[in-house]
Amino acid sequence: MVAASTPNPLLALDYVPALESLGPDYYDRVDAAEFPRHALRFRNDDVLRQLGLSPETVDDAHFVEAFGKFRGREPFLALRYHGYQFGEYNPFLGDGRGFLYGQVRGLDGELYDFGTKGSGTTPYSRGGDGRLTLKGGVREVLAAEALYALGVHTSRTLSLIETGESLWRGDEPSPTRSSVMVRFNRSHIRFGTFERLDYIDRPDLIQTLLEHVIDVYYPAARLCTDAIARYTQFYAELIDRVAELVAQWMSVGFCHAVLNTDNMSITGESFDYGPYAFMDGYDRRFTAAYFDYAGRYSYGNQPAICKWNLYKLQKPLQRVIPQSALDDALAQFDDRYRHYYTQRMLQKLGFAALPEDLAQDVVQQTIELLSSVSVGYHTFFLELARQFSPAWQQNTTHIFATPMQASDPAAQALLDRWRQLYHRCLQEQSDDQLAAMRDRLRHTNPETVLLRPEIEAIWEPITEADNWEPFYTLLKRVQNPFLPPDAA
Ligand code: AMP
Ligand code: MG
Repeated sequence: MVAASTPNPLLALDYVPALESLGPDYYDRVDAAEFPRHALRFRNDDVLRQLGLSPETVDDAHFVEAFGKFRGREPFLALRYHGYQFGEYNPFLGDGRGFLYGQVRGLDGELYDFGTKGSGTTPYSRGGDGRLTLKGGVREVLAAEALYALGVHTSRTLSLIETGESLWRGDEPSPTRSSVMVRFNRSHIRFGTFERLDYIDRPDLIQTLLEHVIDVYYPAARLCTDAIARYTQFYAELIDRVAELVAQWMSVGFCHAVLNTDNMSITGESFDYGPYAFMDGYDRRFTAAYFDYAGRYSYGNQPAICKWNLYKLQKPLQRVIPQSALDDALAQFDDRYRHYYTQRMLQKLGFAALPEDLAQDVVQQTIELLSSVSVGYHTFFLELARQFSPAWQQNTTHIFATPMQASDPAAQALLDRWRQLYHRCLQEQSDDQLAAMRDRLRHTNPETVLLRPEIEAIWEPITEADNWEPFYTLLKRVQNPFLPPDAA
């Protein structure tokens, strides 16, 4: 590897010690591991641009120096947190294989975190090796880029560097290759960060952290001069953001798989992609983690689980917010979720808006249909995008004239019923609205979906021949997942 020839723009960014300045109660200073080898496998030029860097000025060697060798910056902060894991409280968590590398402002003026994964052991490693497998890193890069392209509020990945070690894992053929990743997101403060402060009985630290979170990430709440009103407004907005996030996951068919409270960001953003999966056919019971025997974090449970996580967050927040205000805020979750989910699904069906009753009906019937027919969830919407024509408004029989498989007479009856309802929705549309539908369908329903077989298919050439081309090809496809404008 050649040495970086110019000053490293990644190190010259304007780092802001926002979390660091809150004091050492929230973190431990740690060192990065030294790795035998550094091979840059992914760099996110799009994120560089968001940070005001032009990608041509940042060499691969700069990435390696900053995010593989971890030279030129300190301190690195392993953040302290607890969390409910599969429903059980765990007070032995914390950054066990990562740290907060630094915080920077984007061109949008917002504060962002660089957080590592796989950078070595910390006081919270609990016997773990502090490492990230290369496959785990590749999977997180793909998930984040795919979700981002689908309009989900997600973390991104700034870099993935292969590090030349052999790791042993129960869930991958071992020995397996190692990597270190740098994640880019709004915040690594988790629900579990607050849970820990309650557990150690430090309401003063809860209040300080809450003020920090509001100050940096909740500008609307910041405007409330009364402290209780400010905290209540924060919780209400968090509930709204989480409801929106789950609606985004549900509409794109994503199962996060490990929705423990330490994996829930206080900014309402999605992050930490482990055994996640996109479902193929619609199935509320679809479960992505092999160790989730009870299906606690199944696709269909995600809204209820996120609500439960928000409920558990009340315990630390009770220290500073009256219980009645917490209850009132959480009571909004179901309505907010339904609102966002309906909006997202209407988009997938091609509509900007519909009368409320009709909107609820068409979304519900679409889900009923997809639960009963053997057509895949994404295939259905992609076919809708491909086949749609404004002429469908004229006559119900035009709708899906090229039939998708209807698995049995009952499913056929559902399809017919759905056609009638979809036709009714089309009749609500003006000519202009109708004309806009084709583009909306094509910009909402992906042609490329990051299904598991897609990931496995790119992994084989990497392990067998160190061939990364299929990975870069898939990456481009998930970053641009929609039908080209001119395709039939
Ligand atoms: P995760 O499942 O990635 O959200 O991690 C849950 C907890 O286990 C966190 O405290 C992690 O830091 C920790 N952890 C996961 N993998 C490792 C590892 N290989 N070494 C040390 N700690 C780990
Ligand atoms: Mg985690």
